[in-house]
Amino acid sequence: MAPEAPPYTLLIIEDEIEITRAVGAALREQNPAIIEASGGKTGLDAVKSSHPDIIILDLGLPDLDGLEVCQRIRAVTDAPIIVLTARHGEADTVALLNAGADDYIIKPFSTQELAARVAAQLRRAAVPRHAPVSINADGLSIDIHLRQVKRGPMLVRLTPIEWEILAVLTSDPGRVFTHQQLFKAVWNRPYGDARLYLRVHLTNLRRKIERDPADPRLIITEPGVGYRFVAEW
Ligand code: CA
Repeated sequence: MAPEAPPYTLLIIEDEIEITRAVGAALREQNPAIIEASGGKTGLDAVKSSHPDIIILDLGLPDLDGLEVCQRIRAVTDAPIIVLTARHGEADTVALLNAGADDYIIKPFSTQELAARVAAQLRRAAVPRHAPVSINADGLSIDIHLRQVKRGPMLVRLTPIEWEILAVLTSDPGRVFTHQQLFKAVWNRPYGDARLYLRVHLTNLRRKIERDPADPRLIITEPGVGYRFVAEW
């Protein structure tokens, strides 16, 4: 019996062999074809020659800046890019997300988290990028076209800004939006005191849509980075 073809091809760009091995081990059950590159230049070559379905990119590479590598990958492929980073809220991580990376994983990472993030990105990449028409999550129903939010039969009244924030977050459920991306999308202005503005409106929005605003399940804070909407729909 011929062995099954790998379900997807993953490129890992990382100079630390232990991390590369850990990624391989974490994804063993998914059984992808894994291509390894130990630097930015070889990584960029591999993107062009191997057309990976997903890329894991380490921030700290010996030859090229992670941001530059990310931008150059994004210029040639739409494949999801997951950044490996050392610290939560690292300024570089935010810059990478703003530069087109899709998600990030903090080192040291758990096997389950890495496998789940990779699977989630592949799911997102497999569906056409258009916002869902309606979302039902945690007893809340959101109708994007009607611009209507209901908790059970009760209408939830949102301010225009709250609606805009919710519309941006739900346009791509599961994706992390940085403060800057949200600020630009909602206010159509360059980055200002985005975090403060956002925090105020997010607090109000959560008070209206979360069952327990102190323990939000729908809009998740990514500390130092931004927010993501989490829902099955
Ligand atoms: Ca490294």
